[in-house]
Amino acid sequence: MPAANRLGREGQGLKIALTTLNTGRLSLPALCVASGRWSLKIAREWSNARTQWGQPVGKHEAVGKKIAFIAASAFALDAVFELSAELADAGQKDVRIEAALAKLWSSEISYRIADELVQIRGGRGFETAESLEARGERAVPAEQQLRDLRINRIFEGSSEIMKLLIAREAVDAHLAAAGDLASVDASLQDKARAAVGASGFYARWLPKLVAGAGMDPRSYSDFGRLAKQLRFVERSSRRLARQTFYGMGRWQAKLEYKQAFLGRVVDIGAELFAMAACCSRAEMILRTTPEHAASAYELAEAYCDQARVRIDEYFDQLWRNTDDGDRILSRKVLAGEYTWLEAGVLDQSEGTGPWIADATPGPSSKENLHRKYR
Ligand SMILES: Cc1cc2nc3c(=O)[nH]c(=O)nc-3n(C[C@H](O)[C@H](O)[C@H](O)COP(=O)(O)OP(=O)(O)OC[C@H]3O[C@@H](n4cnc5c(N)ncnc54)[C@H](O)[C@@H]3O)c2cc1C
Repeated sequence: MPAANRLGREGQGLKIALTTLNTGRLSLPALCVASGRWSLKIAREWSNARTQWGQPVGKHEAVGKKIAFIAASAFALDAVFELSAELADAGQKDVRIEAALAKLWSSEISYRIADELVQIRGGRGFETAESLEARGERAVPAEQQLRDLRINRIFEGSSEIMKLLIAREAVDAHLAAAGDLASVDASLQDKARAAVGASGFYARWLPKLVAGAGMDPRSYSDFGRLAKQLRFVERSSRRLARQTFYGMGRWQAKLEYKQAFLGRVVDIGAELFAMAACCSRAEMILRTTPEHAASAYELAEAYCDQARVRIDEYFDQLWRNTDDGDRILSRKVLAGEYTWLEAGVLDQSEGTGPWIADATPGPSSKENLHRKYR
């Protein structure tokens, strides 16, 4: 290849290639937006058409809750994608984290929407479009959507790997500040020296986490009724940083291996990101299509209220969970201590081939993983 055809500077190739992942990753949230809209349409039309126990199924509270979840989440899918794409288009900021959060959150919530749609459709949700058509009914591929969306949680970085990558950004500042303090191998003397350095960082950083705009009832007033949601986002972001700091204090360098704790930290961050995106989207709709503003504000508020319940649960679970017990249990399962529970499963019912035909080793080290998905 002639040098004249080179894109960018010499030695920058890998960086450029990996940077494309940031915006490339946004194509998946875009697809999830479409699936959210489709699910909302089918849920609305079907829940009005199907009558059980004397009224349309959508009017039964159990189904109504699902419809409310689908509507609020479809709005949030739109909002998260629009915000992330605008940040990417503006080109002024590295959108690595926003794109990763958008990919992770969109693929998870759109799958939950699709699952709820299957449930709302009842037996017809489980049926294929072909089967429905053959019976003379509308060919709604709800089960196919569920199957197709499943892969989004696995490829372009599985949800577990995305959480690790995002969490690393949150924890890196602490690890850098703590230096030897967080190192398992450092001597007592090194740790004492690092403690002096870290105390300077935290003396500046920690007070910022106690008070902020979220405490002032007048802040974000431009957002009208959504101001309280943005104050919650701001307060919760600081709370999240404090909790991450406590995790750091408790586990030090081992925090990196606390995947369940870090996963919840990222789940909270993703919900806060989606809440902020919803408020920003409602504000944008007010300016561009004012005829939809009132309902956009309602949907944004509904999403925020629903997300706050989930966020409270995640915060609670940071410190009240079964992680330690589950770790022990899973090790025992792996060691074969409960194989009696598999009684009745025919030997080799899953076939006799090797688990992995291609013996090429996967990414073996943490460094490889980071290189692959950054
Ligand atoms: C339909 C389809 C299309 C695809 N298209 C492409 C493509 O175009 N380009 C491409 O490069 N790849 C593609 N892939 C591959 C895809 O990116 C991988 O399947 C995906 O990255 C997961 O890797 P894996 O299958 O090796 O799972 P594994 O790495 O074996 O993971 C198994 C499980 O362990 C979890 N796990 C793995 N490592 C860790 C860890 N360190 N900590 C916690 N949990 C962990 C995973 O999240 C998963 O739950 C495609 C796959 C499919 C099915």
